[in-house]
Amino acid sequence: MSRIISVALFLCISVGVTAQAQHEQPKVVKINDSTYMAPLGANVYLVTTPAGNVVIDTGTAVVAPDARKLLGAESHAPVKYIILTHGHADHIGGIGLWKEPGTQIIAQRNYVELVNYVARLEGFFAPRNAAAFNRPFVEAGPWSGNYGAKIDPTILFDEKYEFTLGEVQFQLFSTSGETPDHLTVWIPKYKTAFIGDNYNGFGEPEPMSFPNLYALRGTKPRWALDWVSSIDKVLVLKPDVLLSGHGDPIVGNPEITRRLIRFRNAIQYIHDEVVKGMNSGKDVFTLMREIKLPASFDMTESFGKVSWSVRGIYDGYAGWFDMNVHDVRIATILRLPGSSQTRRRSGTPGAARTGKIGSRQAGRGSAPDRCRPCL
Ligand SMILES: [Zn+2]
Repeated sequence: MSRIISVALFLCISVGVTAQAQHEQPKVVKINDSTYMAPLGANVYLVTTPAGNVVIDTGTAVVAPDARKLLGAESHAPVKYIILTHGHADHIGGIGLWKEPGTQIIAQRNYVELVNYVARLEGFFAPRNAAAFNRPFVEAGPWSGNYGAKIDPTILFDEKYEFTLGEVQFQLFSTSGETPDHLTVWIPKYKTAFIGDNYNGFGEPEPMSFPNLYALRGTKPRWALDWVSSIDKVLVLKPDVLLSGHGDPIVGNPEITRRLIRFRNAIQYIHDEVVKGMNSGKDVFTLMREIKLPASFDMTESFGKVSWSVRGIYDGYAGWFDMNVHDVRIATILRLPGSSQTRRRSGTPGAARTGKIGSRQAGRGSAPDRCRPCL
């Protein structure tokens, strides 16, 4: 039986397994003779080689023991590497269960800031996470400081990292998207790409959902153009098997290519519409109402909502100031309508609505010197 046929058969099983995971004891999905998946909400992968094993993502702390048990039954060989596709809690919760003396843990370098950011704002995120994930609120502990997160990786890389274990080559690429530390694992021998959460497997079978370019629980901007170029990096590899952080495997390069291109184009479309709207002077709320994903994309908003993403892109580029001035001091600095200085000196009330006038005047006007750096 060819490897791909084997995968396809297991795919049929996996669809059921993923659905079962909510209610029944999940089972391991065999991708090929060396690659196994534990579908426990967040997928945990085990790749075996003659020289030891590689674990890719480790699940949440809650499901990690089950994943360890399921995948551990497939191989008792030592774990030589743990690769973290990104630093979200649902992918790093089981590190301690897999780590052995000598195990190397690999992440993209931005992992360090991501987990520090999460720890830095733990008290802020706690009630939001409880609401977002429908779980009991747990009071955050004492503030751990700005750089107080536990850093597990022993190997950090910027753009690319490669290693070979048991004659199986692993190539890791920085693919910023859902998080700035996202990476993709590519195994040329199996033509398999582990894409993490840069492609959400939710919506299998189709229609798939638009991604979460902004999560309501609170996130830094997820840069749309970075995400687009990261999808392109995966497309160039021409994978035959695509394994994501959630959801089911996708098998066959034509299907993978079709899905990834549509996914990438949807992000690009929304991004470009926001930028066009910003350049034409439209405010964020107008754009949130106006910008829609064309029906030809055939995508739902079950996971990521377009209007929230529009605001995420807009605010990510421009920040909070919307030229709607209620603060007299700001109005004075920018010499906008409402400022007594504007009325007295420019004689052009309303002219600053476009922003260009406001910023030009601010640069050459008589705003107090101490305020100029604010601009
Ligand atoms: Zn995830």
